[in-house]
Amino acid sequence: MLPVDVYVGLGSNLDDPASQVRRALETLGELPLTQRVGVSSLYASRPVGPQDQPDYINAVAHLATRLSPLALLDQLQALEQRHRRVRRRHWGPRTLDLDLLLFGKRVIATPRLRVPHPEMSARPFVMVPLAELAPALTLPDGRSVTTLAEPLRSPELIKVLPDHPG
Ligand code: ATP
Ligand code: CA
Ligand code: CA
Repeated sequence: MLPVDVYVGLGSNLDDPASQVRRALETLGELPLTQRVGVSSLYASRPVGPQDQPDYINAVAHLATRLSPLALLDQLQALEQRHRRVRRRHWGPRTLDLDLLLFGKRVIATPRLRVPHPEMSARPFVMVPLAELAPALTLPDGRSVTTLAEPLRSPELIKVLPDHPG
């Protein structure tokens, strides 16, 4: 099977979120049958849902994988567990969240896996890093990620500089 281009969204807002995301970006390059092609900058934003929690750090990674979609999801969920993901409530703080955003041009609609990720095109913290990483990319329905990201840009989504301590 030829490698498929996939995009993974990363998020954290607990236990030094930037370091959680940087470590996970490294580990994504070590998954079986998978290579890391590129990564976006890190972005800081206010959380979705309850506001009494720290800022989120988000990023997007571009991988090329020979894994099946479900095998890749298994790997992503195992990596979340290795970061000792904590979930106290829905949309509450977590140490690491990995969402499979795109798997080539495939459309998958099962209870365990939905691709493209159903909320991605409306989320600034997904679309802005994705457009930075892959400006020419289109979704399976043909929409351009750069066009979708444009109205989602805002001063509240801040690019984290490489030497930013947080
Ligand atoms: P959201 O998906 O809206 O960002 P969330 O990331 O907080 O919410 P989780 O609790 O991390 O949701 O995941 C719930 C379930 O979603 C997982 O058990 C997984 O099987 C399922 N799921 C469906 N589609 C995907 C996908 N594209 N990427 C990751 N998980 C998915
Ligand atoms: Ca998510
Ligand atoms: Ca998730």
